[in-house]
Amino acid sequence: MIYKTVRVFVFLAVVVVVALLVRNLAAPKGPQLQSGFGGSRIVMGTFANITAVAADDKTIKASIDAAFEKLVEVDEMMSDYKAGSELSAVNRDAFAKPVKVSDELFEVLKASVDYSRKTQGAFDITVGPVVELWRRTEKDGTKPGEKELAQAKARVGYEKLILDEKNKTVRFAVESMKLDLGGIAKGYAIDLAIEEMKKAHAAGGLVDVGGDMRCFGASPKFDNIWRVGLEDPSGASRYLLVLKLSDAAIATSGDYRRFVMVDDKRYSHIIDPATTASAGELTSVTVIAARAMDADALATAVSVMGRTKGLQLIESIDNAEAIVIPADKKLELVKTSGADAYIRK
Ligand code: ADP
Ligand code: MG
Repeated sequence: MIYKTVRVFVFLAVVVVVALLVRNLAAPKGPQLQSGFGGSRIVMGTFANITAVAADDKTIKASIDAAFEKLVEVDEMMSDYKAGSELSAVNRDAFAKPVKVSDELFEVLKASVDYSRKTQGAFDITVGPVVELWRRTEKDGTKPGEKELAQAKARVGYEKLILDEKNKTVRFAVESMKLDLGGIAKGYAIDLAIEEMKKAHAAGGLVDVGGDMRCFGASPKFDNIWRVGLEDPSGASRYLLVLKLSDAAIATSGDYRRFVMVDDKRYSHIIDPATTASAGELTSVTVIAARAMDADALATAVSVMGRTKGLQLIESIDNAEAIVIPADKKLELVKTSGADAYIRK
């Protein structure tokens, strides 16, 4: 039997920023501002691209450098791949004793639990033990067995995560729990990076980490509108549509970007914590929200909740919209009621 493990990296990124940048270079300069692209760097296991608009080259460079630095800092804190990260210390020690964490990590853990409540557990960072089993599938092509999935499931559940707000400590109620911030840390890092750009006096900017992004202020066309393409998940290199964003964030979760193949069947890296199965109803979920952390977590949650419940959830949240593509190969776009306002006609 031939098992194939496929990892689609940002070559297939939802948003092909490069195309936009080429256009940026040709754009007329505004009266006082100029735009600069900070290049691509690998952060959080994917490509990060940062664009800044500011009065001069020095400010552009300083704001881009500060933003990249922040992305790296958050990654060092919240990666479960890095043995030295704060998150890894929590995963190692939090059953034995309460582990004190930074304000930043505590904020993300708290927000994560809020999302778990809002999504009836569809979004759940304690899904780590199950994710770990599926990651093994990625390596050796063997699907997790029912017994080991059941054992892992006993260690999953946000209600088993004990957060002490006053002392900023984290504790696990059950042994061998594992937190995985893969569905929210990128968004959080993007939000902090945007703050850094503002502090460094950029008049506008866009931070893109693997297709999740947030923009603010003046755009390279100096009209405060950032144009972002939504990529065709079937692999054809074309945009399905172009979104116009001003001071907004967008995140896409999709089984076409990261997945595992076993016996020619594709399994998403997003897990339904209720069943431990890989989420398969939607090929692509894009969420627009004010903050990147919200967009990121909600896109993951909607992937699990599916079309009907997922879109209902987004409809119920102020200033959030979603565009989803069901996995039935028809490439039909299903949108929340306010999504059209962001789509370029
Ligand atoms: P991407 O990493 O492609 O941007 P997401 O933001 O949707 O995609 O995050 C998916 C990651 O989140 C998975 O790789 C895993 O680490 C983690 N994860 C998987 N299932 C869940 C879930 N139900 N709730 C929260 N996080 C999850
Ligand atoms: Mg996400």
